[in-house]
Amino acid sequence: MTAKYALIIPDGAADNPQEILGGKTVFQAADIPNMDKIARQGRQGIVHTVPKGMSPGSDVAMMSLLGYDPKTNYTGRAPIEAAAQEIPLSAEDWVFRCNLVTMADEKMADHSAGHISTKEGSELIRQFSQAIKNDNVRFYPGVGYRHLCVISGVELDVVACPPHDYIGQKISKIMPKGKGADLLKQLTAQSQQFFEDHPINKVRRDLGENPVSSIWLWGQGRRAFLEKFSARYGKNGAAITAVDLVRGLAKLVGFDLIEVPGATGYLDTNFVGKGEAAIDALDKYDLVLVHVEATDEAGHNGNPLQKKKALENIDKFIVGPVYEAIQTFDRWRILVMPDHPTPCEIRAHVGQPVPFAIAGTGIINVLDKPFHEFNSFESGFEVARGADMMEYFLKL
Ligand SMILES: [Zn+2]
Repeated sequence: MTAKYALIIPDGAADNPQEILGGKTVFQAADIPNMDKIARQGRQGIVHTVPKGMSPGSDVAMMSLLGYDPKTNYTGRAPIEAAAQEIPLSAEDWVFRCNLVTMADEKMADHSAGHISTKEGSELIRQFSQAIKNDNVRFYPGVGYRHLCVISGVELDVVACPPHDYIGQKISKIMPKGKGADLLKQLTAQSQQFFEDHPINKVRRDLGENPVSSIWLWGQGRRAFLEKFSARYGKNGAAITAVDLVRGLAKLVGFDLIEVPGATGYLDTNFVGKGEAAIDALDKYDLVLVHVEATDEAGHNGNPLQKKKALENIDKFIVGPVYEAIQTFDRWRILVMPDHPTPCEIRAHVGQPVPFAIAGTGIINVLDKPFHEFNSFESGFEVARGADMMEYFLKL
């Protein structure tokens, strides 16, 4: 009988000690009996998901986590999201992530424009795209504030800042730089003019929601290619996620995507539905990946209590039920790990190693302690190259 594998990823959940949590990290403070059980019945350790010299994006960290070394496979964040949307790219195209952002006092105030809905966000992108009339520039509406922009026929060599890492920074300091930056600046300025008095923004202001001030282009790259997971590891897989980045990686490695109604990529996501979908998928697939963005968003919000609540929901509604269900198979393993830390006081991703907890067939306990950053470190089990984690996970 083939073995079953469940990989559960609370995005950005690793953290530093927080004052409001009595000097504990979110993992320490949260009530997460199921993750603790996995650590106590199995093993915990730490893994370096972000190679030295690379920026600690979810894209890089998630690629490691899937078993692909970002150093040799990574071409940029946007190409991965383009794969999610099945956007055709030629070898010469550049694809950018296009956020809808809120600026205030000439600073980056909100990388998500108040977590604008997909309906409003995509409508603004669609209308702006029509308004600019530039044959070399195409916009593709995505989910919420996350959209894409493809630029053809232009030579580019730009540095563009991820807006979520520059909250509160002066816009003039974080504008794109390098060859082709003028085109990006021009599009940004055009969007500001277009959005200024847009009826959708009027309604948002009336409701006290953050208006859309501008597009923000970043995360660019040329089209991506990854070897299929089944060819590399001999297993098929399915992914459950609301986030285009993870969808894109899943598609690139040949996983099926399982849609869960009410999966939002935010704190109000359908935790119960994700857990149930994962259990169903275990019947059909060797490996089921469940990704939850809510913890990362809480980190970006700088809100440890929110993050703690999100992690507790993941534990109760996803980790617990999946852990119970997977044990009905003869051979199985479960792995819980964030992709990277998003410390609440920093409100941005960092490249430090993350804790992991693994249990199942052939895993022997060495440290009978609950799951968190410090115990993981204490366990003395360190995976130096994140991409090696998958092989360790799969090898019974
Ligand atoms: Zn992440």
